[in-house]
Amino acid sequence: MENWGAVTTREESVFYNNHMSLLEKRRALNIAHEFAHIWFGNLLTTSSWNQFWLNEGFARFMDLKAVDIYSEYDQTEESRFSTLQSALWIDDEPSINPLVWEMRKPSDAYDILNNINYDKGGSVLKLVEDLIGNDNMQMVLQTYIRKYQYRNVDSQDFVNTLQEFVNFNATDFLNGFIKQSGYPLISVSQIHGRKVSLHKTRFLRMDQAYRDGRFA
Ligand SMILES: [Zn+2]
Repeated sequence: MENWGAVTTREESVFYNNHMSLLEKRRALNIAHEFAHIWFGNLLTTSSWNQFWLNEGFARFMDLKAVDIYSEYDQTEESRFSTLQSALWIDDEPSINPLVWEMRKPSDAYDILNNINYDKGGSVLKLVEDLIGNDNMQMVLQTYIRKYQYRNVDSQDFVNTLQEFVNFNATDFLNGFIKQSGYPLISVSQIHGRKVSLHKTRFLRMDQAYRDGRFA
């Protein structure tokens, strides 16, 4: 758990030896994650619980990056893949909330602890990094931190900072990922010869299951 000036964790998350299994070695990610909150959570604090991905998505993005850079534990590709899979797995539920959403009642607060904020948030940031390059992403994050340190932030603050470094519309680009849930399923059907038609719908795992008759 992150606190201002203090990072606390369970003993079992710290002890390490070379005989540990791959799963146990993943504790490096947990430690890196909690340290990432010194910046994303403490130095910059979200303005509202409905911006929670600014804590958890950024910490997830940075824990993978830190372990990639500083650890001998070469697992980053596997972890990135499992992070993305986790995000896709939960984002295909019809009732899942987007990264930024309007909370209407106190019990909505329970929903912020789902993996959307962590794994979709981290994956969206990785997507941005892959799009603009490592060096640019580093400059975006450094600028974002310097500009808003000791303050509350919301998603638009990050989007505005990104806009300073890119020549596409950062709001249009990111809103599709952070303000709407789900992801598309593109169906291709052959009309005749080399002519095909493309049809886009939201991918829903359960919906497909119902159509397949796997649930009565
Ligand atoms: Zn966290």
